[in-house]
Amino acid sequence: MQVLHWTFSNKFEQYYTQCMSEINQEIIWNYVHNIPNNLYCDYQGAHDPCPGANNFILYLNRDLSTGLAEIIAAHELTHHVLSCQGYPTVALTALGNQNPAWATLSTHLMSSLEDVIIDKLLESVGFIDPTAIKGYNNVKRDLLTKGVIHFPPDGDAIRHNALGFLYLKYALPSGKWKELKTLYHKFQPDVYKMGIKLLKICDSIGFDTSEKCFQCTVAMRDFLQLKHFMEIVNPVTMDRY
Ligand SMILES: [Zn+2]
Repeated sequence: MQVLHWTFSNKFEQYYTQCMSEINQEIIWNYVHNIPNNLYCDYQGAHDPCPGANNFILYLNRDLSTGLAEIIAAHELTHHVLSCQGYPTVALTALGNQNPAWATLSTHLMSSLEDVIIDKLLESVGFIDPTAIKGYNNVKRDLLTKGVIHFPPDGDAIRHNALGFLYLKYALPSGKWKELKTLYHKFQPDVYKMGIKLLKICDSIGFDTSEKCFQCTVAMRDFLQLKHFMEIVNPVTMDRY
């Protein structure tokens, strides 16, 4: 099937058909470069969580190879399906909106757990997302060569990296994770401490259903002291906490 300038495989089309049968909406495809506020132009993909509307927009980075564009498209589509099932989204409060850099942190808070769920779902239908392995290589390289992990664009590197720590713990094979955990502990003790506390929250609540994922995201937000800046939203009921 044709999506923007790419021709996607039958495997993608099958997955797409299955997803579309679960949601009663049309997709509008666009390039991330066309997102109006342009915060996301270095993103591989993005989605607009609007389960009530007749259609929704999925954005892809126009520089992606066909193989990767297909995986990112499946990833973003799955984010949308999960939103329609009541998995949480994160919205900035009026106060949070005063700091544009927090948009990236709110996206990261929303996706650190959901990406783990999506990686596993996609793996079961034959799409292997390279994000976790890339993250492993980047974090290992940064810690061994510089002792810190760079996370643009704001000064909130510890929270960003603690959320990255959480994603990598659940997404990587255990051997690779153990390697990273030792490096985090040695070079980035603040990230390590915050990451371990986030892990405890997620392990105790769990996130394998939309309800648990919602509770878990609320608890993570509160632990990260972001309550005044971010609201956790159920996109189906529009309940906000
Ligand atoms: Zn994602």
